[in-house]
Amino acid sequence: MQLPILDGHNDVILSLYGVPGHERRSFFERGQEGHLDLPRAREGGFAGGFFAVFVPSDPASARPDLVDVGEDRTEMGTAVPQPFALRMAIALTATLFRLEAVSDGQLKVVRNLAELRSCLDSGIVAAILHFEGAEAIDPQLNVLEVLYRAGLRSLGLVWSRPNAFAEGVPFRFPATPDTGPGLTEAGRKLVRACNRLGIMIDLSHINQRGFWDVAEISSAPLVATHSNAHAITPCTRNLLDAQLDAIRDSGGVVGVNFSVAFSREDGEREADTPLDALVRHFAYLSERMGTDHVAFGSDFDGTLVPRELGDVAGLPRLVEALRRAGFGEDDLRKMATDNWLRVLGRTWSSE
Ligand SMILES: [Zn+2]
Repeated sequence: MQLPILDGHNDVILSLYGVPGHERRSFFERGQEGHLDLPRAREGGFAGGFFAVFVPSDPASARPDLVDVGEDRTEMGTAVPQPFALRMAIALTATLFRLEAVSDGQLKVVRNLAELRSCLDSGIVAAILHFEGAEAIDPQLNVLEVLYRAGLRSLGLVWSRPNAFAEGVPFRFPATPDTGPGLTEAGRKLVRACNRLGIMIDLSHINQRGFWDVAEISSAPLVATHSNAHAITPCTRNLLDAQLDAIRDSGGVVGVNFSVAFSREDGEREADTPLDALVRHFAYLSERMGTDHVAFGSDFDGTLVPRELGDVAGLPRLVEALRRAGFGEDDLRKMATDNWLRVLGRTWSSE
């Protein structure tokens, strides 16, 4: 029996939804393409996690047969207009609900801790609906209110671009995450609304000032679902020691990203990267924050991972490498499931 792992971030929804020129693949058949499907999840011990709804900046990556990009096409820059983001986000969210509907009870979109625990106990893959970037949400937060009722339980204020609420970091190496201004007034309102509704706020991708603004305002534990240690890999997407300390002090958690570029000391996108590069980040974060504040945050289907890991079926090889590095079974269980359960228990409402 594999160690059941709750994972901080995957992009399988966009990967299944497909981009023009690529055949859509099935979530239910074992494939070679991508990182994540149900058979490979079962092999690797993937028990579920945060399933991201991500709206690409380039409208050409939106399937025109599924989303009418319409007049927004001409407005595309680095920021994504809200009407387009909303249409695309609804299409991706619907993709997840359709997967759940045809999964024959094997995949469930969970909305509270009891449902999440029950999935873990019974081997049903638990999907937490997560938005990676708040572009789809209007400043009046009407969309947020409706999405919450639909099942949204986790929100990254930004991807690596600016929006109406905050600003994400551009991908730079070597560089600090201090790349721009903090939260807007609308962003502050959004943080308070997430606290009130019980939506987890994800700090991966946000710039340094935005991070500290959230740290000041939010009443929930601070979370970065898929980021690594800046002290090892000094790219904008990774967390400075002071940020790690703040996450620890808030009772929060950091999900280790399996991206080779965020793990290697030289920041190179090189598939031939040993698993030990990931293990070093687990070890550093554990030493800095304690294992109570470390978790898995694969970024499956959203990044280049070490060839030695391959895909979700390779998770046991990573777990083995962590054991060899001295992590005990208690540490592994915390990082795999218990830390997420604690943080979500303190963040979500019991509805
Ligand atoms: Zn991401």
